[in-house]
Formats: sequence, C-alpha cells, structure tokens
Amino acid sequence: MNTVFTLPRIFALSLLLSLLAGCGGDSQSQSAGGDNDGGGSDVLLPTEPMHPVRLHNWVQELTSYEPRWAGYPEERLATEWLAKALEDAGLETEIDPYSFRKWQLDDWQVQLIEDGVPVEIDSFPVWSTRGGTGTAELVDVGLGTELELMARDISGKAVVVTGRALLNVFATYPNTYHRAAELGAVAMFVSSDAPDNLIRPTSSGSNLLDDNAIPAFQLGAQDLARLRRAARDGGSISWQLDARHVNGTTHDVIGRLPGSGELSGTILVTAHYDAWFAGALDNATGVAGLIGLAEYFAALTQAERPRDMLFLGVTGHDAGYPYGGVNQWLEKNQHPVDELELFMNLDHLAAKGEEHLGTTGIIDMLGLVLERPGDEERALFTTAHPALIRKFMPHILKFTPLTVVLPTVPSVTANGDLEGAMGELGVPSVNLTMATPHYHTEEDTADRIPAEQLSRAVKAHRDFLLDVLPMTRGQIRSPL
Ligand SMILES: [Zn+2]
Repeated sequence: MNTVFTLPRIFALSLLLSLLAGCGGDSQSQSAGGDNDGGGSDVLLPTEPMHPVRLHNWVQELTSYEPRWAGYPEERLATEWLAKALEDAGLETEIDPYSFRKWQLDDWQVQLIEDGVPVEIDSFPVWSTRGGTGTAELVDVGLGTELELMARDISGKAVVVTGRALLNVFATYPNTYHRAAELGAVAMFVSSDAPDNLIRPTSSGSNLLDDNAIPAFQLGAQDLARLRRAARDGGSISWQLDARHVNGTTHDVIGRLPGSGELSGTILVTAHYDAWFAGALDNATGVAGLIGLAEYFAALTQAERPRDMLFLGVTGHDAGYPYGGVNQWLEKNQHPVDELELFMNLDHLAAKGEEHLGTTGIIDMLGLVLERPGDEERALFTTAHPALIRKFMPHILKFTPLTVVLPTVPSVTANGDLEGAMGELGVPSVNLTMATPHYHTEEDTADRIPAEQLSRAVKAHRDFLLDVLPMTRGQIRSPL
C-alpha cells in the first residue's frame, strides 16, 4: 500500500489482472478453507512445517493479539509470541527493542450535524494526524484532486474526500491531506473503498508525524455518502481526537540460521507482524510463512544450506508508515546490507477470492462483494534482476496461479519501507502479494484465510528459496 502510483500505469495493471482472471487457469486452486480449524497449539498440531493446519494455526494465534499497533500492548505480546515460535523452530533468536515516535491514540468521536441534530458516525482516525476538537461546515471535494481542492473555498471547512484504493491497495489521494491543510481546511473525512460501511485505515508515505497539521478520519463508504449529502445541504461536523506523538518502544524479532559457509552472503526473509485490527491476511499470513519457512530450513542439514539465512519480524508498517518496516534493521546493519544476496518480503499470502464492486456513487451504498472460487490474483514485485522472475515463476505457476509480474521495485512497489527500501539499496528483492476488499478492515479475520491456499503460497516461496540458496551473487544479479 501507500505508494504513489501514476494512474495510467495502474489502470493498465488492473486491466491486465482482469484479463488474467478471465483466462481461467486456476484449476488447482479450487480447494476451499475446509480444514481451517487448527485449534490452539496445545491441540496436537501436524509437525510438517508446510502443513495447512499448522500454518493456519499460526494465523489464528497471531490474530488473537489485536490491534497490533506499533508500541501498544498487544503488539508487545505478539513480539514475544513470534520470538518463541522462531526459537522453537531452532533459530538463534533475539528481540531488538528500539525507540520511535509513537502515536498515542486514546479516544476519538465524530458527530454529523444535520438540522442542528448531532448524530454519531463511526470512524477511525488517519494515523498520526493532529489531535484536537472542532466543528466546521462540510465541503465535498470529490476525489480530492488539486483541481477539486482549488475549485472551492475550503478555508475553515471540513473537507469530504471520496477516496479509492486501486487494487484495494494504492490510495488515490496521497497528497490531498497536506494540500487541503495548506489551503486552510481544518479537518478531513475520507473513505477508502472497503465494502458495506467498513472502515479501511490507510497510511500515507507523506506522514509528517508531529508536523501533520489537521485531524483526519477514515469513514465507511455509506457514512461518507451521508456526509456528501450533508455537505450539499449545508450540514456541519464535529470531531474530537485525543491523540499525540510520544516517545515509544517497538521491537524487531531476529532469527539467525547459519549456513555451512560454502557461499558468502545472507538471505533475509521478512514479514511485518503489526496490524490495524486482527490482521489475518495482513499480515498473519506472512508471519505464518516466516515461521513455516524458518522451521523448514532449520530442519535441513547445514550442508543443505550453503549460506546464512535471517528471519526478521518487523512492526510499524501499517500504523507508523513509512518509519517502520526494515528501517531500524537497516540503520543498525549497514555493513551486513552489502552482504545481502536476497530480500524476500512475505505479505498477504492467502485469501478467499473476492471482488468488491465500487464506484463513486450509489453502488457503494450497496456494498456488493462477490466471492469466487480460486485464488485471489497476485502481483510479483521484484527488482530488475531477471533471475528472480525466472526462478520464482515456475513455482508460482505450480502453486498459486493468476500472477502478474512487475519488475518495478523500488520505483513502483507495494511497500516503500520493506522491499522498496531494500531495492533502493540495490538488494535483489521479491514480494509476491495481493489484497482483498476486506484487508485493513475489522473483517480481515482468520476465518477468511483458506489454509490450503496458504500452504501452497508458502511452498512456492520455499521452492524459490531452495533454488536461490546455492546461486552465486553473480548469478542472482546477472542482467541476463
Ligand atoms: Zn501488509
């Protein structure tokens, strides 16, 4: 999420994805999540690291800690839980605490005022925006583009922005918040394309922390439509946001798996374990993959691992973007970065296939979601190292079809603080990802994750890693 995408490009991608979806080819992805009831870890779990029940069990366990905001108590519990899982897998594991600018969110409330009558509206604050209280007249600024902001006098007003999320991920309004504040707006209310009236928190790469100027709130599509109507009828809105930035502590979890030393360099596998709410797809599935792969590779003989591997859990990717992710690890490991041969980000590994029919009008009020059989379409983001695509694609086609390949990291990537940051440093990087209409909402829950599909996705990553592990640096980075 979070990346500024140029529109023509994303539409082309979107079209390509729908074409691919229309071509079928998902014959082996019909397995539903029938065996999702892995239970707690006290129940006898299958011991095979890639077993669907075992992997789904990690998803269930991690999602019991919610919300996992960086620096908050549930995230701290998740830190301990992940460290134990990597330790149990046989890795030399360390929890690395570090201080950061935490957004302390205590309480908030939004009330729409129509004909003088206040009605409470469900909302979620845009992370890291300025606290405060106020009341202001509503102004509908459409999609929040520069032209739309300039077309109205928004000074002293609360702006209503119809936000879209292309492919459920890329926000269409990356600059609207700061621009509206510059033009004098005193608050912003924005939707982000989730079905029904679900609220989808979305981070922005232009988060200025303490310098964010005005309060802003995410709303569900139905409530946003109410605000647009109220704006037309001269309605106003009140808000109260008890939040401020403080110095907080969050944690990386680092698991080391030494190789035989036959080859130099390290392979780094990462998943972020923070989440807006329960965060099943985003990103308990990635964390389940991290643990599954750690277990699998730790069970090999050292001779079968010619080089070192690192398994890293990070936070602050969702609530805290763009300051979390691998930023802290990079700051502390400037030398080892030169020795990285591959960065693999595990994010959004499995979900039921879903389509949300969204527009900017009445259809949104209906909240139409279609569930379809098969895997959600994926995108493989890589750096411009052809060997990565050549090695990954056969395994993707075998285990998780419907994938579009985007060798665009770091210029266009889903996560600037993960594979984007690594790609920026020239590290060969991969991220096989996707997003569904329910991601980032309260309904991103473990029951929506098909265990069999999760297992297939992790196996594709495993077999790709097995291929890359014995390759030399020259082979991995070769332009041919
Ligand atoms: Zn994620």
